[in-house]
Parts: sequence; C-alpha cells; structure tokens
Amino acid sequence: MLSTRQLFFEHLAQTSDAPIGIEIEKASGCWLHSPEGKSYLDLISGISVSNTGHNNPVIINAVREQLDKHMHLMVYGEFIQKPQVELASLLFSLLPENLNTVFYTNSGSEAVEGAIKLARRYTGRYEIISFKNSYHGSSAGALSLTGNEALKRAFRPLMPSVKHVEFNCIESIEEITEKTACVFVEPIQAEAGIILPEEGFLERLRKKCSEKKSLLVFDEMQTGFGRTGRLFAVDSFGVIPDILLIAKGFGGGMPLGAFISSKEIMNSLRNNPALGHITTFGGHPVSCSAGSASLRFILDHKLDSNAKRSGEMFRKLLNHPKIKEIRGKGLLLAMELESAATVKNVISKALEKGLVTDWFLFNEKCIRISPPLVINAEETELACRILLESLDEI
Ligand code: PMP
Repeated sequence: MLSTRQLFFEHLAQTSDAPIGIEIEKASGCWLHSPEGKSYLDLISGISVSNTGHNNPVIINAVREQLDKHMHLMVYGEFIQKPQVELASLLFSLLPENLNTVFYTNSGSEAVEGAIKLARRYTGRYEIISFKNSYHGSSAGALSLTGNEALKRAFRPLMPSVKHVEFNCIESIEEITEKTACVFVEPIQAEAGIILPEEGFLERLRKKCSEKKSLLVFDEMQTGFGRTGRLFAVDSFGVIPDILLIAKGFGGGMPLGAFISSKEIMNSLRNNPALGHITTFGGHPVSCSAGSASLRFILDHKLDSNAKRSGEMFRKLLNHPKIKEIRGKGLLLAMELESAATVKNVISKALEKGLVTDWFLFNEKCIRISPPLVINAEETELACRILLESLDEI
C-alpha cells in the first residue's frame, strides 16, 4: 500500500520541485507534530495565518457551536446570518470610522479581485498603481498587481493598465494622476523580505491619492491581526486607506478574507449591474464564527503586545556573525544572511533540529520569523538557539 507521502506526490498538484515535504498529523500552539512523533516549532504560521496558535480550543469551540447550527445556506449577501454580522460589528469597533462596510471573501486573492472592481466601479477610472516586489496573490488580477516579473512572465497577457513603481521612492508618488483608480500597497512589504515603509512615505501616498481622488488600498493580509505588534498596520502608521484588505489570520485558521471600505464607496457594487460582484462561499458562517473567536482571543490575550515582546527577544538573542540584519516589526521578521545558499542550508539544518522556517518569495537571502503570536519566552529562546546552532554548523 502506498504511504500518505507517496500518495501526496502521486495525486496532489505540485507547486514547485521542492516542497518542504514534512507530514503533519496534529498541531497545537506553536507546535506541529508528525505521525512518527517528531515535533517542530513553527516559525511560519501557515504564512501569517495561525496568529492565535494551532488548534486553539476557543476557536475550535466556536466552530463546533456553529457546526451544530448550520453551515452554508445561500450565496453571500442574500440571507442574514449572525456569524457574519457579529464579526463585522466586532471588527468595526476596532477600525477607523471610514472603514465600516465589509465584503467577505474566501481568500486574500479574492479580496484583491473585489477591490480592483470596487475601485474601478467607484472612480470610473481603470489605471492602477502597485509596487515592485509586492505580492497580492495568484489569481489573474492579483497577479497583475504583484510586482515580480519572474512570477508573471509565463502567464501574460495579464490585466492591462497596471503600473509598477518603486516602494519607498518619492518619485513613485508623482505617477499618481487623475487617471489612477487606485494604488495598492502592502504597508510593510512582506514577500519582498519585510521591507518597512520609510518615514513619511505612506503619509505622502495618502496625500497624493486624496489630491487626485484615487483610492488608497492597504493589503494587510500579512500585517493584520496583531502580527506587527499592533492590531493592524493602520494603527502603527496612522495612515488610513480607503479600502482595507484582510485575510490569512482573519479566520483563525479557517479560510476567510475581506475587502472593507466606507458605505459610500461600497454602495457602488449594489447596482448597475446588481449582482455584479458575488461569491458563493465568501463569509462562510463557520469561518466567520472562527474569525470572531480568533479576534476576541487576540484582544483578550493582548497578542499584539506579545508579538512586540517576543519580536524584541528574537532581535536581542539572534546575534551571529553570519546574520547581516534582522528587519521587521513585532513577529513579522526577516533574518538576512549572506546568500541564498546559506539560507537553504540553515533552513534544512533547523528542520532536522525540529524548527520549521522558510525564505520569502522575492528574497531568498532572508529567513522568515513569523511564529504564532502565542509564542512564549521559552519557545522564543528555543527557536533562537536552534537558529544559532544551525548557523554555527553550516
Ligand atoms: N496579499 C499578501 C500580502 C499576501 O501575502 C498574500 C498571500 N501570501 C495574498 C495577498 C494572497 O492571499 P491568498 O493566498 O489567500 O489568496
């Protein structure tokens, strides 16, 4: 009989020639467990998803309670469903006033697609600006915005009228004109290897968008839900977008995303044509219940503060001549090494020692440090010890 591993390679579409390829049967908190009983400390969090920890009992309970009531009932937006409404109310008690209307999706890419259509529909313009080295997703529209040629070349022609400009460059801002429907930006560029915005950059972007009546769209999929030491990057930088995109950590481990805007902007999707933007599963009631439980858990346990504390500990403990820099905010960190080869070697050494990490899509010289935000001091120390030992041994 074929093993699960053999069947995985036989039947599941592969996304590269070299998947991490460990088999995980159970997970809890910051730990992943293989069927053979090997445990791994997780420094990836399913790419900024498992902020509240794996198998969080509070979230599991919320999922169970909703399962006992109902699962899918009707395409998004037609029936009144309490889990969707409750999550929206909680979210809007925490967000700036203009961000008060939500369109739920299944994924991050789907939220990006919705925002593209919303911005075009509302402004009546079609040109879009996004940044080099940004990542916004794999669907055709989101890929068009993504700022990496190597990832896109094979799939052209993509969506026209998208201009890619340099992040953190003042001249880029001059590219915003009366023709620009919107500007998509990750307030901290994640897959570029955690690139923080320079002082004043997001403010200037905001000012120019307002001047030209273009919409500013923040992709907070990796920065949201406490990861950077604040609930959202919106709170850190004091710049408020017209459209906010969330996903990943939103569903507490269940698939859930959203694009969020003001009632006025969002109302442009109501008619001409009606049903011009719809989704079957977006805002699945079980995902929304998990989302509410997860958000409440983040608030109750001040996971944003823990992200800040643990992030500072990582920076303090990770001292090694082979480390060039540690960048980021909270627990959205990149550890830069001298080469991609060193990174690969450290990743496989660390895996042998029971620690899972990886590099970034557009930065192979950096190691990802983004554990679940429930990580404690002991686990942070252990992660640093394994990384330092791995650096010594390669
Ligand atoms: N935006 C950002 C910043 C992301 O990191 C990702 C996923 N890595 C996406 C969008 C796309 O999200 P999804 O994979 O859920 O479609």
